[in-house]
Amino acid sequence: MSQHANLTVNGQALWHDLVTTAAFGGTEKGGVCRLALTDEDRQVRAWFEQTCTALGCTVTYDSMGNQFARRPGTRDDLPPIMMGSHLDTQVTGGRFDGILGVLGGIAVLRALHDAGVTTMHALEVVNWTNEEGARFTPPMLASGVFGGAFTEEFAGSRADGAGITLRQELERGGFVGTEPCGQHPAAAYFELHIEQGPVLEAEDRTIGVVTGVQGMRWYEVVVRGRSAHAGTTPMPMRKDALLAAARMIEQVNAVAQAHAPEGLSTIGIITALPASSNVVPREVRFTVDLRNPSEPVLQTMEEDFLQRMQACALENDVQVTVTPTWNSPAVHFDPRCIASVKESTEELGYSMRDIVSGAGHDAVYVSRVVPTAMIFVPCLHGISHNEAESATPEDVTAGSNVLLNAVLKADHLF
Ligand SMILES: [Zn+2]
Repeated sequence: MSQHANLTVNGQALWHDLVTTAAFGGTEKGGVCRLALTDEDRQVRAWFEQTCTALGCTVTYDSMGNQFARRPGTRDDLPPIMMGSHLDTQVTGGRFDGILGVLGGIAVLRALHDAGVTTMHALEVVNWTNEEGARFTPPMLASGVFGGAFTEEFAGSRADGAGITLRQELERGGFVGTEPCGQHPAAAYFELHIEQGPVLEAEDRTIGVVTGVQGMRWYEVVVRGRSAHAGTTPMPMRKDALLAAARMIEQVNAVAQAHAPEGLSTIGIITALPASSNVVPREVRFTVDLRNPSEPVLQTMEEDFLQRMQACALENDVQVTVTPTWNSPAVHFDPRCIASVKESTEELGYSMRDIVSGAGHDAVYVSRVVPTAMIFVPCLHGISHNEAESATPEDVTAGSNVLLNAVLKADHLF
C-alpha cells in the first residue's frame, strides 16, 4: 500500500480545464477543430505552458516541438516519470481524445501541489506534436521520432494540403527546442485516454487496464477476370472479377470469425473496372485490414487469408494478387506499469477489465524506448474522432485518480 493511496485529483478543476481547452478551436456543434501547429494549437500550447508554470513547473521543448512540463522531485539524478498525450485534434474532433491524457497529467500535478507532496522522481506532463495525422501524415509523428520509428528529417518534411511543412510550422510557432527529439530521459510513461470504442460502456466498467495495442496488417487485393458484354455472354462463360471479389469478401470475414472475438477483418475500399452498367467487371481492387492482439495469431490469420483468396480465385476462374501495404506489430506494455495501474484501480475501488487498444496512440512509439502503460475510461457509445465525442466528469476524474496513484507507485518501482 502506498503512503499516498488515498490522494485524489480535483475533479472540478479538471472539468474546468476540459471546458477551457475546448474553446481553442471550438466548433458550433460542441467539438474541436485544432489541427497540429495551427494558431488554435498555438493558443492551447500557450495555455498549457501558463497552467503548468503556475503549478511550479518548468516547460521546455525538444526539436520536434514536444512540450515537457517538469515538476522537480527530490532526486534529480533520476529520469522523470512522464504522463501525457496530445492536444491536437481531428478536423471534426472531440474535446477528450488526447486532451484528457494531458489534462489528467496536469490534474495529477495539481493534486500533488495542493497536498504539498514531492515525489522522488521529477514528474513531467508531455504534449506530443501532431498525434492525429490530420494535418501532417502519418499519425503519431513526433512520438514516432521520439521512439525511433521515424527520422526527424522525414517528420519535418511532411507537408499539409497547402504545401507547408511541419518544420516550417514548428519554426513559425517558436516550438523548436535545443534538445534533440528522443534524447529526453524518462523512467516510465503513463497515458490516460478515452477508449474510443464501446466495450467499457457496454460492460459498465470504469477503467480499462490497457495491456497493449493490437497488431494490424493492411493489404491490397487485385482480382483480374475478363470484361464481357452483359447481354451476350452466357453466365457459365464469364470471368466476373466482382462476383469473385464478393465471394472473397465473405472469406475475409470468415478469417476473423475463425479467430473470434479478438480477430478482426475489414474491407473499407472497393473499386471495379471498367465501371460500366452493362459490362462484366474485368478488375476489382479492395483493401483488407486484419488485426489481432497476438502477433503469432495474426500471422496465422494472414496465412489463412492468403490461402482462402487463392482457393476462391481458383473456384471462380480469376487471378488474384495480394500485396501487403502496412504492418504495425502488436505492442505489449510494461508489466510493472500495468501492475501499477491495476493495483491503483483496485485500491480506489473502481470496476475494471483488461483491454487491448484497437487504435494507435503516442504510447505505441514511446513504449519502444520507455516502460509504458495506458489507462482507458469509457466514452459515450464509443464515439470518437467526432464532434459528438463525450465522457462523464465522474469517469475522467476516476481515470485521473488512477493515473495519480499509478505514478506514485511507479515512483517507488523505477
Ligand atoms: Zn488520441
